[in-house]
Amino acid sequence: MQELKGKLIADRIKEECLDFVGKYNGIMPALAILRVGSREADLSYERSIKNRFVNFGLEAKDYELPENCTNEEFQEVFDFINNDPEIHGILVMRPLPKQINEEEMLKKMNPLKDIDCITDANVSGVMRGDKEAFAPCTAQAVIEILKGYNIEMAGKKACIIGRSMVVGKPLSMLLLNENATVTVCHSKSENIKEVASDADIVIAAIGKAKKISSGYIKEDATLIDVGINVDEHGNLCGDCDWDQIVLKAGAATPVPGGVGTVTTAVLAKHLIDAARRQMNLAPVDDSKDEYIE
Ligand code: NAP
Repeated sequence: MQELKGKLIADRIKEECLDFVGKYNGIMPALAILRVGSREADLSYERSIKNRFVNFGLEAKDYELPENCTNEEFQEVFDFINNDPEIHGILVMRPLPKQINEEEMLKKMNPLKDIDCITDANVSGVMRGDKEAFAPCTAQAVIEILKGYNIEMAGKKACIIGRSMVVGKPLSMLLLNENATVTVCHSKSENIKEVASDADIVIAAIGKAKKISSGYIKEDATLIDVGINVDEHGNLCGDCDWDQIVLKAGAATPVPGGVGTVTTAVLAKHLIDAARRQMNLAPVDDSKDEYIE
């Protein structure tokens, strides 16, 4: 079985980012991370973004508010980063506490700064197949992995297990845009094993440790594991039972070291695109893309 390591894809994206930073020397694309409260998962994601961005020559600034902040306080900080010309991308850690009016924020958010696809403009752009729309970074990371490893999508059956707005739903659109035949399963679906084991590509995004066993995939299929969970021994693991999957799949992403690694790299790439478009700069040449054997 081929292990689809995220690092190889992330390294290639890093080169594109460094090319941009080199070409437009003096311009520092900057991401604002807006966080309310201190959930460990958010803090850990924030740390991994910051580590990645330093290596990519990009800036990530924290905007932190206490869990009990008022909607007015939140909107004031949001307005500041949304209007600051030195901030090119915004990542809002969600879910937000109940007192925060998320709709109010979404209505005024500049879609060009919305690099993780939470505004209607980007969501509908992804639906339409608009190449300029920013897709959610995790969904886009799955596509980058499949493309990077030269895994055929056109005409192939893809089964996504999970239908969230950050992964399953947008990914179904991205895979359709790549001409895959897509089925989306969820917690109310019947016969998921039957549907998934008929697919050429299975994407697991349910958030259930090791739930996806070898019965969910056919021999030599590709398995992309989006899940990030903690197993019974306190170790990080995906939605798939790796020990079973390795014996059956043709290729699979590990956890950690798979989709998550590429997600932060895609965030960096989106930030570069956002900065470039906000400053009307020409794209850097990405014609050196090659497939990984
Ligand atoms: P979510 O919002 O909780 O959605 C989970 C989805 O899985 C829902 O659609 C749910 O169905 C479905 N589901 C749950 N249990 C199921 C089951 N037993 N069989 C079939 N479907 C089931 O989660 P999410 O935000 O999409 O995240 C999913 C996983 O990906 C989590 O482990 C999360 O940590 C991880 N994640 C990773 C990254 C990354 O960068 N690698 C980024 C984001 C998320 P219903 O809709 O019917 O409830």
